[in-house]
Amino acid sequence: MSTPWHVLGAGSLGTLWAARLARAGVPVRLILRDTARLQAYQAAGGLTLVEHGDARLYPVPGETPDSSEPIHRLLVACKAYDAEQAVAQLLPRLVPGAELILLQNGLGSQDAVAAQAPQARCIFASSTEGAFRDGAWRVVFAGHGYTWLGDAAHPVAPIWLDDLQAAGIPHEWSTDILTRLWRKLALNCAINPLTVLHDCRNGGLQQHHCEVATLCLELGELLQHCGQPAAAEDLQPEVERVIQATASNYSSMYQDVASQRRTEISYLLGHACKVAARHQLNLPHLNQLQQRLIARLHSLGLPSD
Ligand code: NAP
Repeated sequence: MSTPWHVLGAGSLGTLWAARLARAGVPVRLILRDTARLQAYQAAGGLTLVEHGDARLYPVPGETPDSSEPIHRLLVACKAYDAEQAVAQLLPRLVPGAELILLQNGLGSQDAVAAQAPQARCIFASSTEGAFRDGAWRVVFAGHGYTWLGDAAHPVAPIWLDDLQAAGIPHEWSTDILTRLWRKLALNCAINPLTVLHDCRNGGLQQHHCEVATLCLELGELLQHCGQPAAAEDLQPEVERVIQATASNYSSMYQDVASQRRTEISYLLGHACKVAARHQLNLPHLNQLQQRLIARLHSLGLPSD
């Protein structure tokens, strides 16, 4: 029997991964917050994945963080602001050399998790797949995409990529995962906060071309300073392409705010501003953007961290 995958977080991406692994016959276990959530999950009979309008139930076994089974491979599928604390509860269960696959958007949470689990190998992921919950324990596979995985410290690909192949999870081992994550973060910083502040779809930013261009300049400067010149290359034309190609979409941050959900701001724009300050880099427009976004979140009664 191959090494089991533990999936921490039965939300959109956690369910999407757990269901596909289980469907391929890979052993998977789902870690839920507490006994109450576990009982609710067990009453539902498993996870439901809706793909091309077709709903299928996958009876993936569930457990709580204090279960005793050792963990060899952990897919961390929480939001960035929950990852560190959620993994902390599992530290006693991680075997030496355990592997943690971190699906969080943005940057900052991965290093926080890695610092508290020095016995583990932490693999960072960046995904363009899209999924959302449309009911309890039920997730819709909304956007087919790709997941890049990499380990900046050890470039050798892990053997379990075969499990992803078997599960039909499109992926690629990346030797420049940090560059990918920084590039995605920069795109996010140039688009998402402005869609919240201007209350518009991505395409609405075509009316704010100068503001976007100024942010791209500052983001490019930041990427150069933090050793990510490749992530800075042609940033502005790509941002403009994304705005055009996704003109009718609402950004993920816009959707979080519209649904009164906490955003991942600290790991996106907040992280960019923090790193700029660490490099004593003066990026006035980026800092102003952060202040304006924080003020907007406060005015809506949402957390700003
Ligand atoms: P989500 O739907 O909110 O799922 C997060 C899950 O983590 C929730 O089910 C939550 O439990 C669980 N959780 C939090 N703390 C926990 C703990 N201590 N113990 C056990 N479970 C815990 O989030 P998501 O959309 O899957 O996003 C996960 C990450 O992937 C984010 O960083 C996001 O930006 C990134 N991402 C998402 C997508 C997408 O399409 N969804 C695409 C690319 C990247 P409860 O249900 O009990 O609250």
